[in-house]
Amino acid sequence: MLDGFSLPQDLFGVDHFPVGCFATDSSRIIRFANAQAAAQLGRSGTQLQGLHIEALLTPASWIFCNSYVYPILLTEGRCEEIALTVATGSGSRMPVVANVCVHERDPDLVLWSVMCADKREKLQSEVLSARNQLQKQTRSLKELASRDELTGLLNRREATRLIEELILAADEAGAAVTILLLDIDRFKAVNDTFGHDAGDNVLRQLGAAFASTIRLHEIVGRYGGEEFILAIAAADDEAARSLNRRVHAAAASVTGSAAPVTVSVGLCCRPLRSGRSFDQVVKAADQALYEAKASGRNRSVIAGDGVLRPYD
Ligand code: GH3
Ligand code: MG
Ligand code: MG
Repeated sequence: MLDGFSLPQDLFGVDHFPVGCFATDSSRIIRFANAQAAAQLGRSGTQLQGLHIEALLTPASWIFCNSYVYPILLTEGRCEEIALTVATGSGSRMPVVANVCVHERDPDLVLWSVMCADKREKLQSEVLSARNQLQKQTRSLKELASRDELTGLLNRREATRLIEELILAADEAGAAVTILLLDIDRFKAVNDTFGHDAGDNVLRQLGAAFASTIRLHEIVGRYGGEEFILAIAAADDEAARSLNRRVHAAAASVTGSAAPVTVSVGLCCRPLRSGRSFDQVVKAADQALYEAKASGRNRSVIAGDGVLRPYD
């Protein structure tokens, strides 16, 4: 059996181990390098001996050694898993991971074991690019999950979420919120007369017209089949009137079917800090929408203080 005293040097000498080893003295000059260190660094053993360690490292790694590794060696006696970049004899750069310690018997000597980290770096960059890819996919999945497929507008869930957020923000900022529920007039007739594809085309065009007419801080989403929801952080004032006029104009701009497209709109203004929930405001807007339909369509009605009034 082999024990510590009978190890044959030719079999178990430090040259045989798959790790680069070298020793530097107090002047940071290399005094010893094993065969693996010579092979890794692309220099012969004699080329390495007598070389200052600075000559082996890139400038950044040398600065790192001076400012981090050597101070730690002074206090701790060892420093592990240091990522360095060495300049090889052929002029290329190689990432390495080094463990460094002060020699137990001679504190002037520092022992280095150095392993090539090429594969680790490659793996790390693969992991990074896979993570970036995943982040991109997550972003586009989120985008997909929040959009209505046909019109490209926000879907009902996302529009609701954003309007609820708008209500909270408006309460903080001291603003009212006006919600508009909008329904295409006699849309069934478009489908029945021109076909379902023509109906889809009207919805798409209307979606695009709404998207291009709304302003920053206004919200528009597809709320159901041929129903849309819009919101603005404003009271029943000129800003809300402008939005109401713009949605009627957007509908009039749609040319997808032979018949002109008109919409009916129900509005409800949620006064500042009224405590009224999104659902309560939408319910009132829906009653106003019903009244807009009943009173002839292609018009807007606003709900407020228990009464319904025409709105233009
Ligand atoms: P009103 O003025 O009272 O709103 O009349 P309307 O015909 O618009 O209302 P109704 O509720 O009778 O019909 C709505 C129609 O909208 C019926 C439905 O097929 C159509 N619709 C809903 N979603 C879509 C869609 O995604 N594509 C198409 N082409 N049609 C749709
Ligand atoms: Mg409807
Ligand atoms: Mg309709």
